[in-house]
Amino acid sequence: MNIHEYQAKEIFRKYGIPIPPGEVASTPQEAEVIARKFGGTVVVKAQVHAGGRGKAGGVKLARTPEEARSLARQILQLKIKGLPVQKVLITPAADIATEAYAGIIVDRASKRPVFIVSPAGGIDIEEVAAKTPEKLLRHPVDPRYGFQPYEAMQLAFFLYSDFKQVRATARILSQLYKAFIENGGSLAEINPLVTTPNGDVLALDAKMVIDDNELDRRPDIAALRDESAEAPSEVEAREASLTFIKLDGNVGCVVNGAGLAMATMDLVKYYGGEPANFLDIGGSSNPEKVVSALQIITADPNVKAILFNIFGGITRTDDVANGIVTATKQNPLKVPLVIRLTGTNEEIALKILGENGMSAMTDMDEAVQKAVALATGGKAA
Ligand code: GDP
Ligand code: MN
Repeated sequence: MNIHEYQAKEIFRKYGIPIPPGEVASTPQEAEVIARKFGGTVVVKAQVHAGGRGKAGGVKLARTPEEARSLARQILQLKIKGLPVQKVLITPAADIATEAYAGIIVDRASKRPVFIVSPAGGIDIEEVAAKTPEKLLRHPVDPRYGFQPYEAMQLAFFLYSDFKQVRATARILSQLYKAFIENGGSLAEINPLVTTPNGDVLALDAKMVIDDNELDRRPDIAALRDESAEAPSEVEAREASLTFIKLDGNVGCVVNGAGLAMATMDLVKYYGGEPANFLDIGGSSNPEKVVSALQIITADPNVKAILFNIFGGITRTDDVANGIVTATKQNPLKVPLVIRLTGTNEEIALKILGENGMSAMTDMDEAVQKAVALATGGKAA
């Protein structure tokens, strides 16, 4: 689950990480009032679940309350990576001497939380990793012992040489780790971590992603979810207990099982197509889930063909067939549908589809190739 910058900052502040104050506005008027209260130059920052807001025009300095109002008006009209900006954070502007990066992610390869720090922080850490990897330090943390003070000092020395700044930074990194672990994070990031001309170290941006599996035992964190800021299709999918991730392609995929869903997406790409989504209807699918799945996928205007890839084990393929029939009766499809199914109750499924003027294939390669050809008008290889 993504949370907003202002929410991540509230968490980080509780852990004593130094962060300038801030307040959220959803109208230009509110932005002006808050800016006047803070006085001086403020930063107006789009609150959306997307990185690279700075580059997209979502982070602006305002010298006066009036300017804050007009910049807030502009930013509140933006869409950043497809997500409309509904709130802005107003925060007093800090003077920046240097910008560094500090983040923690869960690394599946080493099965550990890994710190990444770089003195070349600011906007694009991916670029630093690609072009000047020597400016990046990766440090896996052994979860048995936790993040030790000496490790924090080692990382802080990679960023700064001034001892006061090193000490302050070591403390920030330790507290960031604590916030990450105690709140069920899969990512916690400060970019930029800045030094000011008078030597203070401050976090000017905060990002946190919470592991969905941690939410049940953390109702206070779960309450931070802002559905209005999520892709509507992902909200709908969660409510229907489907695992769904929207992607940019045009082949809509409905698959049972995460592994098969991954394999299906790989195969779509292999045959020259681009998947429009990842969608796992789960192991024991009832027809209603299939109906929800089709609703979600057909709502995406990019989808030019839909591919069902069902391997019936626990999943009964006749349940899926019934779901397809119900869904297409309710909402006749405007794009071609390719069905591949095999396994439990296959004969019954084929009969149900046949009685409703539909057919299915059993070979996965053929089905994927056909769906890709239909989606691309035969242009893909
Ligand atoms: P992001 O682009 O979504 O990561 O948004 P950030 O909050 O990281 O802001 C992007 C950039 O705006 C930072 O790297 C800074 O250069 C600048 N910026 C953000 N806050 C301040 C501030 O308080 N003062 C100044 N001078 N610049 C800021
Ligand atoms: Mn940032």
